[in-house]
Amino acid sequence: KMADHCNGSSQSSESFVNIPPIKFTKLFIDGKTFEAIDPRSGEAITRVSEGDKEDVDLAVKAARLAFDNGPWPRLSGSERGRILMKFADLIEQNIEELATLEAINGGKLFSLCKFMEVPGAAMTLRYYAGAADKIYGTVLKLSKGLQGYTLREPIGVVGAILPWNFPTTMFFIKAAPALAAGCTMVVKPAEQTPLSALYYAHLAKLAGIPDGVVNVVNGFGETAGAAISSHMDIDKVSFTGSTEVGRKIMMAAAASNLKPVSLELGGKSPLLIFDDADVDEAAKFAFDGIFTSKGEICVASSRIYVQEGIYDKIVNKLIEKANAWVVGDPFDPQVNQGPQTDKNQFEKILSYIEHGKREGATLLTGGNRIGQKGYYIQPTIFADVKEDMIIAKEEIFGPVMSLMKFKTMEEAIKRANDTTYGLAAGVITKDLNVANTVSRSIRAGVVWMNCYLLLDVGCPYGGYKMSGFGRENGMDSFNEYLQTKSVVTPIHDSPWH
Ligand code: NAD
Repeated sequence: KMADHCNGSSQSSESFVNIPPIKFTKLFIDGKTFEAIDPRSGEAITRVSEGDKEDVDLAVKAARLAFDNGPWPRLSGSERGRILMKFADLIEQNIEELATLEAINGGKLFSLCKFMEVPGAAMTLRYYAGAADKIYGTVLKLSKGLQGYTLREPIGVVGAILPWNFPTTMFFIKAAPALAAGCTMVVKPAEQTPLSALYYAHLAKLAGIPDGVVNVVNGFGETAGAAISSHMDIDKVSFTGSTEVGRKIMMAAAASNLKPVSLELGGKSPLLIFDDADVDEAAKFAFDGIFTSKGEICVASSRIYVQEGIYDKIVNKLIEKANAWVVGDPFDPQVNQGPQTDKNQFEKILSYIEHGKREGATLLTGGNRIGQKGYYIQPTIFADVKEDMIIAKEEIFGPVMSLMKFKTMEEAIKRANDTTYGLAAGVITKDLNVANTVSRSIRAGVVWMNCYLLLDVGCPYGGYKMSGFGRENGMDSFNEYLQTKSVVTPIHDSPWH
């Protein structure tokens, strides 16, 4: 279903929101500019400074100086924590404006940005602010005549390369633990969504984070991004994005200073629904798991496996839900799904849909763009999908569900694991043994039992297989930005030796 106002030419920005003036569009260093696009219309919102290799060099110099000589890594953990708490408060004070920026630039529901993504950033900051004064090493039991202990030290200058799907979440999932650990940073937002990171850099300064600690360089992957991954003076790169680019980043890191990298990459996550599941509940998890935020979620439930006894009922429920699903202006409170983030992504999704039709999958619903303006796509469900079809193998990153039927648990596990990815999975059943067996047998970084998409700052997640490595969220992520130093000294004249 489509909102009345969302029929192409009338997708105007006036009806639901007063767009505030865009205040933060410049690098800290000057550069060329590129357009930030409103995906509701495909038109430019503003121009943003474009950073390239030279700008990255300047930003790294500033971050290096702030790390090697500045106060930030030398403050007590509680002092850093106090500043990060203030940063969180400032985000909350500017929630409306920040959520608006995310919605106009990314096409995401304003309500999702206002009530989940932006408050989530404050929550993430507070989580790691509370951890900043709990960094400690261990006393080492060494051989006779030696004593030792370990220190946990910040890893240094962190390069963070972000994707466009959750610009705020991705900024803080990396910046909050890195800053709490005492690192300094150079952040490169995705070129599609350059606006919010500049705002966050401004709030970081207001919160009292010293100059040089948080640097933002907007720009493109092949220039600014590549300059970060190959930089000799960056100590770690934390990347979220496609598997293809993740591979390039790892190669650039290896070819330069062997900096460690953490890679959060793509997914093709399976959700297994067993015969004993509640139909309404299971259909809701399956539907929301893929269609929330227009399918542009790395952990989206893009492959739905349904046991044969409940299959027809689930299919009917999913079609019913798709018919009631409203696509339109993300500022309209009646709307469930906004436009895809950009033209490339929009065209890529439509071409996957054509593949699905050509490969012989059954199109149950959707399959087309909506309107002639902006990047709106119908929620699309394919049934009778086979594992060797392109739509079952490749990450579409859009509102496209692949439905498959299975007979036994063993078969479902095998088929669910038949993917190069391993980011997330889900299982819906009342049988505890089945839930336990499935969750332990699927090779993925997070498995949701009788729910889906429930991410929490306290819960580490990340990839198995080609979905990457390293964990974000939880204390696992904190450890990604710390390194261990052992200090060893001989003991002379101990009465015990
Ligand atoms: P992308 O890989 O094209 O771009 C991600 C970032 O990398 C951008 O900032 C881009 O400018 C930069 N980049 C591009 N080429 C580069 C290069 N050669 N060197 C250095 N940086 C470069 O991905 P995308 O299209 O922005 O995002 C979509 C992908 O991200 C999907 O595959 C999705 O699954 C994945 N993703 C994963 C997670 C996760 O947590 N695992 C979260 C969100 C998105």
